[in-house]
Amino acid sequence: VTAPVRDGLVHRLRELSDIISALPETLSDAEARGVERVLPPHTRRAVHAALAPHIRPASLPFLKLMASWLKEVSAATAAGRKVILIPFNFPPEVIHVFRRAVPLTCEVLTTLGVGVLEGYGERYWDEAMALGLPDYLCSSSTIELGSILSGRDLRPDAIVQSTAGACDANSKVHEFVSLHLGIPQLFIEKPADNSPRGRAQHRRYFRRFIAELEQLLDEPLDEAHMREVLEQGNRATDLYYDLYDLHRPSPCPVPNLLSLYSYGVRFTSWGRPEAVEVLQRMVELSADRLQRGAYPAPAEVARTLWIYVGYYFDLWGLFNWMEERGITYLHDLLSLYVPRPVDTTSKATMLDGLADAVFDYPMTRQMGGSSMSLGWIEDTEHFIRDLNASCAIFSGHHACKQTWSVFATVKREITRRTGVPVLALQGDSWSPRTTSGKQLRDEITGFVDTVVARRAGRRRRGRRSRRQRTGEEG
Ligand code: SF4
Repeated sequence: VTAPVRDGLVHRLRELSDIISALPETLSDAEARGVERVLPPHTRRAVHAALAPHIRPASLPFLKLMASWLKEVSAATAAGRKVILIPFNFPPEVIHVFRRAVPLTCEVLTTLGVGVLEGYGERYWDEAMALGLPDYLCSSSTIELGSILSGRDLRPDAIVQSTAGACDANSKVHEFVSLHLGIPQLFIEKPADNSPRGRAQHRRYFRRFIAELEQLLDEPLDEAHMREVLEQGNRATDLYYDLYDLHRPSPCPVPNLLSLYSYGVRFTSWGRPEAVEVLQRMVELSADRLQRGAYPAPAEVARTLWIYVGYYFDLWGLFNWMEERGITYLHDLLSLYVPRPVDTTSKATMLDGLADAVFDYPMTRQMGGSSMSLGWIEDTEHFIRDLNASCAIFSGHHACKQTWSVFATVKREITRRTGVPVLALQGDSWSPRTTSGKQLRDEITGFVDTVVARRAGRRRRGRRSRRQRTGEEG
């Protein structure tokens, strides 16, 4: 690899975020086009997706939040704080409750890198492969970890391991980085037992984990600071449900990309006042669109629920492309993180609330449950009904052996219980090398035109003929 020193993912994203931080709070169409013009092609396409006029008022605060998070991470060591690398299925507020620590969410960095940087972060994946790591690892973590392994990126002070049992691909690669680079690792196991007994055991594991973190940071948990953070988290929780409810009307007033933004906020900044502000802007934007009946297409032809993750290497070519064709991206499993308010009465109640957030986090909750397929089916069934989804899509990520192992059952059961068809796509969610964006769009188009639209037509005709038979008024 001949790339220059310090061209790691964090450093390159920092350079881009300096541009974002310098932008004003609002941009006219002409100014947005001006910003796009100075960027390289792939970055321009991603920024074009985010700065589309109907989403720009929420995009700018979101991008600025990501920029300030990266700035804080980069400045941590100089400020005497430790950078704690966490996976995306671990709540960042557990780190934010400590003053001396900053969370660096591995898969968010990968997603930002793949989504907006030239070359989709492929060079970092190649770094990991060059070390002999197997190509069936999950690109979501391996791309950022490849960047760290290259030695040309920010080196975290500790790694949180919270996927053992839920995802071996994720767990093992974090373990490898920890052992290879000599970075301490903090474990939090989740028992594959969702009964009260399993939850009680998990709370004990969580308290041990917090004690280890206190020791590593040389900072005992401060109850007052903890309360401040968790009260901000509770405000964010209220806004999350406001946004969730705004997904119910048809056509959906919430722009497709807001699903991705929502977990960008959740996975990095929960518990911070900036997260509350960004969620507030997302709710305001969607409420305003609801009031105006604004929707980017003449009609909403499909309401899709993505039952696992999405695809992140072409933001314009997936999220914006879909909504311009009347295909709503309601949520994927990552944005269905259904936070619960934490009882801030005492340190003990707050610790229990945090432990429960870890226990019920997306992916951990389904793949680390007592039954992988049953937990996943029940959650999906609930959201399909609750949000009136007209179809479901499985992104069939290449590394997800555990989801593939139960997918046939999940698909059959979802259709049997809810009547909605399920499309299975195949590809790498964080790389276009396996399946291109064009191929994915073709498959989605074929599915919506031939399965979802026909089914909707049959249902309309059925309702009409029922009305005719019974003489009801239409
Ligand atoms: S997407 Fe699949 S393989 Fe990747 S971390 Fe999540 S569960 Fe693991």
